[in-house]
Amino acid sequence: MKLTFVGADHEVTGSCHCLQVGSKKILVDYGMEQGINVFENADLPFDEAMIDYVFLTHAHVDHSGMLPLLYSRGFRGQILMTDATADLCSIMLRDCAHIQMQEAEWKQRKKKRGANIEGGDPIYTMEDADGAIRLIVPFHYDQIYELCDEISFRFTDIGHLLGSASIELWLREKGEERKIVFSGDIGNTNQPLLRNPQPTKEADYVVMESTYGNRVHSTERVDYVGELAKILKETFDRGGNVVVPSFAVGRTQEMLYFLRKIKHDHLVEGWDNFDVYVDSPLAVEATGIFQKNIENCYDAEAQELVRQGINPLTFPGLKLSITSEESKFINFDESPKVILSASGMCEAGRIRHHLKHNLWRPECTILFVGYQALGTLGRTIADGNVDSVKLFGETIEIKAQIKTLVGISGHADMNGLTDWVNAFEKQPERVFLVHGEDETIKSFCNYLHEQYGHNTYAPYSGTQFDLLADEFIYEAEPVAIKKKEGQKRVTEVFARLLAAGNRLLAVIARNEGGTNKDLAKFADQINSLCDKWDR
Ligand SMILES: [Zn+2]
Ligand SMILES: [Zn+2]
Repeated sequence: MKLTFVGADHEVTGSCHCLQVGSKKILVDYGMEQGINVFENADLPFDEAMIDYVFLTHAHVDHSGMLPLLYSRGFRGQILMTDATADLCSIMLRDCAHIQMQEAEWKQRKKKRGANIEGGDPIYTMEDADGAIRLIVPFHYDQIYELCDEISFRFTDIGHLLGSASIELWLREKGEERKIVFSGDIGNTNQPLLRNPQPTKEADYVVMESTYGNRVHSTERVDYVGELAKILKETFDRGGNVVVPSFAVGRTQEMLYFLRKIKHDHLVEGWDNFDVYVDSPLAVEATGIFQKNIENCYDAEAQELVRQGINPLTFPGLKLSITSEESKFINFDESPKVILSASGMCEAGRIRHHLKHNLWRPECTILFVGYQALGTLGRTIADGNVDSVKLFGETIEIKAQIKTLVGISGHADMNGLTDWVNAFEKQPERVFLVHGEDETIKSFCNYLHEQYGHNTYAPYSGTQFDLLADEFIYEAEPVAIKKKEGQKRVTEVFARLLAAGNRLLAVIARNEGGTNKDLAKFADQINSLCDKWDR
């Protein structure tokens, strides 16, 4: 019974953990690495085609974004997640594939013009994303399911994103059972729409996130609705628009929730009928999914609205734009309005058009409502250190007001994380810390040990632990990211052949115990295929 740490170890993105239980091979999350990464991820300890099950904690790309790659490499097992995550994951994986293919096309065009850049093949295609989506199996919160002889599991609401869950796994091997809990990303308390994170009572082992393990959110409860109403009023009175770069899934829906309340309570004096545009096809789809999952996922406050016949995410004056014509039309509408558009850090998408049309106008406001990573256009504008930016080859002067709605966060702070791990009735044997930047994770590891006596450990990628024997098999050292120039590049077609080969191995394994006649026939077919190609 072996646990292997593959990704998001001493860093925040690229979540992936592996389990081997008897003959079963399991992944928990398979996320994409984003932004600046410091350490190399480990290789998966088994071929993709041999994996039986993937458990997904939530739909964010740093946890789910590589699932299509699994499919392209021959994985045909089940991907298990909550109902709402299944809905969100379907639109997000397709969006991811779309971005991969666009980027690849852009690189290929540049290469044709003689640019010396790496890459040009998408890491996966839309077919791979659709293939992965077909393998999704949704489950309800709070029920224990027996998956096979070796594994039972339960999803618990962790209040981080619609459908987000911590996962309890009961693992059985050689007549013994161990219970391990993966926290997933732990939510913040008092977020709009979502319930607060739910604790878990018991576990032998815990793998938990540590994103804000050294930070405490302000204890003052920020009046987001009041703050936002004030910004709208000031901007509209000047005759300007409020442009909000917003993550399509999660943050956009929170903003709609606040805006509905503002409209309902008439908080923007003199501007009762202002329009709100959601200009992002992904955000529009995601909003539909939020509305579909009211019963399973909303907190008491939002449920109460629904009971009164009020849809918490819609209101008069809300306009959803899906086509690019609808998007362009927004700039012809001269009345003051709110524009919510993605991407949240202004790196791509329609938000860049709205910035182009509004940044130079002193009467407008650009309002940031989410984390802006270093090096992104959003961070450059939000920091306020430049007078102009380049957009679509044009220099655009920054004359608009630049504001930030501080304090909104989907992640628990140090106290929230500590509360979650201290809620176990009996201290777990070990607490493995993942999903935190190097400095943060080291300090949180010491903090939990020194203050509360938890047996903590922050593994580097490649570390292996034996859950039955309660001992390390291998303690990995950190491996700094290296340039991959020297590596031989495998062509796309050859990669397909390798994937087919891996799938064949998996099919062979699944035929174990078949009748002699069938097995002999199968072996003959493979041998004749090999004879044909082995020249
Ligand atoms: Zn997340
Ligand atoms: Zn995450």
